[in-house]
Amino acid sequence: MAQLGSEQNPLRVAIVGSGPSGFYAAEALIKSDIDIKVDMLERLPSPYGLVRSGVAPDHPKLKQAILLYDKIAQSPEFNLIANITVGKDISVDELRDSHHAIIFTCGAESDRRLGIPGEDLAGSYTATEFVAWYNGHPDYRDRQFDLSNEVAVIIGQGNVAADVARILSKTVDELKHTDIAEHALDVLAESKIKDIYVIGRRGPAQAKFTPKELREFGELEHCDAVVDSTELELNKASHIELEEKSNIGSKKIYDLFQKYSSRAISGPASSRKARRCHFQFLRSPVELLGDSKLERVRIEHNQLSGDPFKQSARGSGKFYELETGILFRSIGYRGIPMQGVPFHDGWGVFPNDDGRITENDEIVPQFYTAGWIKRGPSGIIGTNRACSVATVNSLLADLDTLDSGDQKAGAETLYSLLDSRNVRYINYQEWKSIDATEVERGQAKGKPREKITYVKEMLELLN
Ligand code: NAP
Repeated sequence: MAQLGSEQNPLRVAIVGSGPSGFYAAEALIKSDIDIKVDMLERLPSPYGLVRSGVAPDHPKLKQAILLYDKIAQSPEFNLIANITVGKDISVDELRDSHHAIIFTCGAESDRRLGIPGEDLAGSYTATEFVAWYNGHPDYRDRQFDLSNEVAVIIGQGNVAADVARILSKTVDELKHTDIAEHALDVLAESKIKDIYVIGRRGPAQAKFTPKELREFGELEHCDAVVDSTELELNKASHIELEEKSNIGSKKIYDLFQKYSSRAISGPASSRKARRCHFQFLRSPVELLGDSKLERVRIEHNQLSGDPFKQSARGSGKFYELETGILFRSIGYRGIPMQGVPFHDGWGVFPNDDGRITENDEIVPQFYTAGWIKRGPSGIIGTNRACSVATVNSLLADLDTLDSGDQKAGAETLYSLLDSRNVRYINYQEWKSIDATEVERGQAKGKPREKITYVKEMLELLN
């Protein structure tokens, strides 16, 4: 039989998940000097993962990554099979039979939990469900968010918390020309929220925002960024952290907090902005209270202990209660297991060695991983490129071991299985026609696109 990686016997790789790490893996494979066929599998009819359903609508520049993904998708070696769920419509074992290798790039689809009483009260949400809802993700289309309270609380001080706080801080006029989903804009238009508390368990030197994201709060038209200067006092270890040259980002963040704390929010009420976003530190929610829905959060003040860069927060025994009807837990994403693939429950990732999936420290043949399900939910979109390239390098170095001696039929095998199961899969050209409809619908409203938020409607459009 022809050599694996030749024109007669191309290396067939299935990529599970069509977010950034999936596309960067496809790019690295296509750029290699052997013959390759890539089949990318996606659960939704629409590709691009968090770039479509996670990146904030008022950050259009970040979405330009899609231009590159579109270019990759136009390569003759690339094939999208969307609207299919691996583990339900196609099993992992079937992928193993149809392809020489599988790269799992399915991201971190769930959330970390606070683990406190009342966490699941009505009015307590994960930031990720709110983000997915305003971005028009079909799974979250019909979620209800009650914005009738004047106080909103966000737990966590990373960039997802910043996105949620910014969307709650902006007026409809500031959002209506973005690609925010129409149903979300309608609800935000009725929002009564005036005070947004963004609460970190550690101090201002440990907040995980990036400077660009935090700077935006100083430039909002209708919302003031509020920081109490007494909260900016640092312990010795935090001073050492901020003096470290490589930690320049945290120093910039701290300087921004200082800038916000020096701005006096005074004068007659009529001259003040309509909303305030309060950044508060060294506090943890310990209980969410309310009869049938959230009414109050019990919060404990914290103290830091530990060496520089290893400081952790501990409760001080001092508590207070904050009245609110809505709280967002924004404390990080978490990967979920997939049937037939080893999973590290503690870390919420697929255990791996340089992208090769392992089980009990043994490499599992044919299985690779990249992105957040490989290394955990951290880093910006571009971080995934190097991560995916590293995985593809491991895969290509294993070429000899991937050669089972059988020719694999790749997508053809999957299509016949899907047809026999009556699964309506979608190819990239079909996605492009949904995409064109969204853009057309957006144009009428001065938006880059109006997302179609029901899978049924996307399918009807194609049929
Ligand atoms: P993140 O950056 O890891 O922030 C998580 C926050 O939750 C931290 O403040 C963390 O505090 C806090 N936290 C964790 N466990 C907690 C607990 N039990 N109680 C209270 N607080 C807790 O995660 P993320 O905001 O979800 O963002 C994920 C990644 O996506 C990040 O790399 C982020 O930069 C990226 N992202 C980028 C953009 C952008 O570029 N515009 C937008 C969105 C997201 P500790 O520090 O104490 O752990």
